Amino acid sequence: MTSPFIKVARPAIQSMQAYQAGKPIEEAQRELGITDFVKLASNENPRGPSPQVLAALANAAQEVNRYPDGNGFYLKQILAERHGVDVGCITLGAGSNDILELIASAYLDSDTSAVYSQYGFLVYALATARSGAESLVVDANDYAHDLAAMAQAVKNTTRVIYIANPNNPTGTYANHNALTALLDAVPASVLVVLDEAYCEYIDSADYPDGISLQKRYANLVVTRTFSKAYGLGGLRVGYSVSDPVIADMLNRVRQPFNVTSLSLAAAQAALDDEVYLSESVALNRAGMQQFESGFASLGLDYIQSAANFITFKTPFAASEMNQQLLHKGVIVRPVANYGLVDCLRVSIGLEDENTRFLQALMQILDSSTSGKQ
Ligand SMILES: *Cc1c(COP(=O)(O)O)cnc(C)c1O
Repeated sequence: MTSPFIKVARPAIQSMQAYQAGKPIEEAQRELGITDFVKLASNENPRGPSPQVLAALANAAQEVNRYPDGNGFYLKQILAERHGVDVGCITLGAGSNDILELIASAYLDSDTSAVYSQYGFLVYALATARSGAESLVVDANDYAHDLAAMAQAVKNTTRVIYIANPNNPTGTYANHNALTALLDAVPASVLVVLDEAYCEYIDSADYPDGISLQKRYANLVVTRTFSKAYGLGGLRVGYSVSDPVIADMLNRVRQPFNVTSLSLAAAQAALDDEVYLSESVALNRAGMQQFESGFASLGLDYIQSAANFITFKTPFAASEMNQQLLHKGVIVRPVANYGLVDCLRVSIGLEDENTRFLQALMQILDSSTSGKQ
């Protein structure tokens, strides 16, 4: 019997599904009794936090009886200086996910619509659905966002366009010309949300500099996070750079203390530790090469990625491959919920974690071709 508590929920929520996170190591250990899992499922920085962050956390822990600074004064000031923008342009969030939701709460309701791409980061679909707005999902072009088609998809109800650059789970990115063409094509009142969760990893010359574009296009909202390259996924802190009026709207809908005192302190320390960041980026680059050559020698296709993960095609059912990897102690991410039914996404880990993954993959492929699968 269906519970009466479904029927009385808002219709937009009744048809939604919850976000599926990467399997936590503890859960995999409980389920499978394996104790030495490697987790390559959530695009985390595999190195552990920077020592400077740990010191800042220990210090900030002394004052957790106090509420955080609800305006994040110091962190905003540092970010504003770094990016050469006014403090009023910065909005802080509990992860950039929070910002993506704040944008939906402030700008979307059942009379409006949001545009995002097929295979686009799932949070866009969730935030749109929750707000009751119409989703205008634009077909991807060879797994990448088709920005020209996304610009065309804008209707007069459209308030927000979500662009992940690079995108998760495909790792594809839009170049400077494609992005500026979209910005030139869409009405100046439509918010173009450029989600740069992985921007630190990219050094391609044609990768757009979102924050300098924001200075030219007032409707551009750039979101950044400390969860990936900065190694603070567990602390939930991210931000946006936008027109100050947009920031004001987001501030109206956020929780008064949405970023914890520990997160503020850690983010400040993380910004100071440039060595940790550059080492993380270098490690990622080496790991990406390890994966690309590993996939090539195993004869597996993959989607070229600019981020800290890579999505590859499995030669038999991805769900079965996922199970077999789990039994070998490797947690990767199924992406069937994105419609990528024959793929798995793997995050770049430490060198020996990457090796564990590639070896497990090789063993699975060997036993499947010899019929022992
Ligand atoms: C991980 C990720 C985010 C942000 O995550 P937070 O931890 O909430 O900052 C945002 N966008 C994309 C595309 C991501 O993959």
